[in-house]
Amino acid sequence: MPEVYNWQLGRQMSYPYEEAHPNLQFAFVFNINRCIACQTCTMACKSTWTFAKGQEYMWWNNVETKPYGGYPHNWDAKLLSMLEKENPGKQVWKANGKGPTKPYGTFEGKTVFETADKHISADGGQRALGYIPSDEEWQSPNIHEETANGPVRKKDVWGDSVQLPEHRVWFFYLQRICNHCTYPACLAACPRNAIYKRPEDGIVLIDQGRCRGYRKCVEACPYKKPMYNPATRISEKCIACYPRIEGKDPTLSPDGAPLETRCMSACVGKIRLQGLVEKTSSGEWAKAPDSPIHFLVREREVALPLYPQFGTEPNGYYIPPRWAPRSYLTQMFGPGVDHALEQYCCPDRELLAVLQLFRATQQIIFRFKIKKGSKVTEIENTLPSGEKKVQEIFNDTVIGYNKLDKEVVRITVEEPTFERSKKHHVNSI
Ligand code: SF4
Ligand code: SF4
Repeated sequence: MPEVYNWQLGRQMSYPYEEAHPNLQFAFVFNINRCIACQTCTMACKSTWTFAKGQEYMWWNNVETKPYGGYPHNWDAKLLSMLEKENPGKQVWKANGKGPTKPYGTFEGKTVFETADKHISADGGQRALGYIPSDEEWQSPNIHEETANGPVRKKDVWGDSVQLPEHRVWFFYLQRICNHCTYPACLAACPRNAIYKRPEDGIVLIDQGRCRGYRKCVEACPYKKPMYNPATRISEKCIACYPRIEGKDPTLSPDGAPLETRCMSACVGKIRLQGLVEKTSSGEWAKAPDSPIHFLVREREVALPLYPQFGTEPNGYYIPPRWAPRSYLTQMFGPGVDHALEQYCCPDRELLAVLQLFRATQQIIFRFKIKKGSKVTEIENTLPSGEKKVQEIFNDTVIGYNKLDKEVVRITVEEPTFERSKKHHVNSI
């Protein structure tokens, strides 16, 4: 198998195809701390793309409750166990030796591609370790919603569960869509070459004309995001709302500037920020410190990939929840969790301004600028490490620009309030 560079693992890894990278890559940051699990994103996607016969069970966007929930059930725990069985006791990170091309250190274990070797049959069968979920596992998409983990409580005794940095009783919501991975396992596994990654934006699509419904993509995707349609007998997956990315909505984008997907632009909790990341021919992220996604993922490293150890280099990044156990979060997001949370719990001036851009416009923001404002206050914060830090808050204004370098959003750190004129707006009684 060819060797490719996976920066999230900090090393070369085996992948069935030679390296090839798009000019721009669809990417997103989800801030778990802000999600209210309203499922507006889920319904925005469902009502746009998956309302036909055979798609009843399809939730291309879903929001599950961790640690027990998952769609399909236990998708992540199951694959983690399979990987552990293939490489017992060695699925570990070497977190020291970080550098610009390996921000999380090096993953010393094996990926879904590297553990599939011995399962390859004569016809080149399995190219990524995986499994096909059963019909039962595809039932109850929001199973275990808001079921907490923690010590068993005695009746009417609540104990000291609400204490940062980690709560003794905890759960959190995990928002999931296809990660439009740099090294997609779905694409690697397809024997019909029906899956492709677009060079213009890195979106991963299934060619509906070529697919024969062998479900190799369903088996191989670690995140279980391709889904088989029993009515058409072919597989389908999230298409990243590509007409919106192409700026084809004449009402919202008359000048053709790229728009965020439906799930991103419908988010009530303002937890989602989408971007198109510029890449070099070697697959590196081009330096772009004024791109909000680049700033959060590569400059500040406050947003982290979901299960980077699977090896697909997913392009979805998460700001981890402050209150969940670090060991659980480290297994899910890699060794960058402590660093990410130290910053998020006491954001400096620039980070606080960029955090305002989440879901502030439907246009994809390519560049931001900060206009300095006056100091509002100071707060003393205790960081997860126990260190005390004074946070200075300034009423800065952050301005976002779209692909055409046109200003599309201007927002202040302090939320403005307006008093309505009594003359024109009499309250009802
Ligand atoms: S719309 Fe936003 S806040 Fe609501 S569930 Fe989805 S991600 Fe969470
Ligand atoms: S998340 Fe799964 S379906 Fe999406 S690109 Fe990655 S491997 Fe393919």
